[in-house]
Amino acid sequence: MDLATVLLLHKCSFIVGAICCFYVRWRSREPGLDFLAIGDGLLAVASTLAGVGEQGILPYEIWTLASFSIGVTGYALMTTGLIQLSRRGRKRSDCLLVGFSLIFSVVVGWMHWYADNQTRAAIFNANTAAFLGISCIVILRDFFLDRLPARLGLLASLAAAMGFSTLVTVGMIFPQYGPVEPRYAFFMLIICHFSVALFVVVLVQERAETQLRSLANTDALTGIPNRQHFLASLPSELRGGDAFIMIDIDHFKSINDRYGHETGDEVLVGVAQAIATAAGRKVTLGRLGGEEFALFLRDQTEETAVAKADQIRRTVNALAFGSGAETIVPSVSAGVAVWRGDCNAQKLRDQADQALYLAKRGGRDRVELYAGPQSMEERPSSATATTATQHSSGSEHPLGELAA
Ligand code: GH3
Ligand code: MG
Ligand code: MG
Repeated sequence: MDLATVLLLHKCSFIVGAICCFYVRWRSREPGLDFLAIGDGLLAVASTLAGVGEQGILPYEIWTLASFSIGVTGYALMTTGLIQLSRRGRKRSDCLLVGFSLIFSVVVGWMHWYADNQTRAAIFNANTAAFLGISCIVILRDFFLDRLPARLGLLASLAAAMGFSTLVTVGMIFPQYGPVEPRYAFFMLIICHFSVALFVVVLVQERAETQLRSLANTDALTGIPNRQHFLASLPSELRGGDAFIMIDIDHFKSINDRYGHETGDEVLVGVAQAIATAAGRKVTLGRLGGEEFALFLRDQTEETAVAKADQIRRTVNALAFGSGAETIVPSVSAGVAVWRGDCNAQKLRDQADQALYLAKRGGRDRVELYAGPQSMEERPSSATATTATQHSSGSEHPLGELAA
């Protein structure tokens, strides 16, 4: 393959990159894709200008400096676009790289470094390697924050492009030690450009899928996992120490009736978030529906599961919504069931539900532990409390929870 063909393909890779980025930008509105598309477009223009210039159609001074400046600006825009895409946002400081590339072009023009082919190519490729290096650092950092596999593909493509640009630079400065012939390095750069374009598209796609999955798994009002996701997250088989805690907001209907549905929603969101915070990260949590929540915990004893439920109860009880005479202090009741080796997950949830029912009957704002079928039958009211019923504030009425 001769150098002219390689350079033509090199230009094509930028054109394909620009088309991909323009298309994905049009479909997804992700930030950075416009910068990437314009950057790729400018690189194609710079490459065309250099090709036309080589045929002697334009004055040497014009095409060399113009293709250099446009190319350097193209890489600055591409890097800025990659940073914005990876970070998923724009910042004012994003203009710095483009500003730098313009000043750099003026310096190169002023110093006449563009006049010599070798020097111009060495400076251009060293600058390219530096810009690609910056992109790599940003994408690697973002990978640790958001581990999408496409980031690794993008990182590998950019790192390879940086490596080949460095090899071209070394080959220009020390032709006698040049590790790779420029046409081979350019050929590899073409592959890198295609794979950068590919992984940019894949990154946008992966991000959209992750967002959709998260929307499908999350309860839209409270932001915690929804019923389907909670049930799907449960293990297929229970083991010793597994426990369910069922939680229900007390007299929630009264809050809705007295303060309106919007205030009810506000209380619901606040309570859900308080439950999530008090539950901690290791617990599987979900909003089962209405004002009912469920937690699944591993490695518990009856004491620790009840203590966790009571900690949640107290956390919710410390909340206050509104102010003055209109202050709402919510409370929850909770039922706890710890696996005894005799049932499946559905049955254990039912047991926690039965304990919740006892907590409601026992006066609300309290925690009850499921202590076996006979104990449920033996206990028509809260008077015969298990150890767990001691964890209660003993509030009798919802409006007792609404500060007067
Ligand atoms: P208890 O102490 O026995 O649990 O009494 P409660 O009033 O909380 O129980 P009930 O099940 O009768 O009422 C639940 C209410 O929750 C009824 C329904 O209008 C309300 N609710 C369910 N989902 C939502 C919601 O998303 N937002 C609001 N604001 N209210 C909801
Ligand atoms: Mg309720
Ligand atoms: Mg309910």
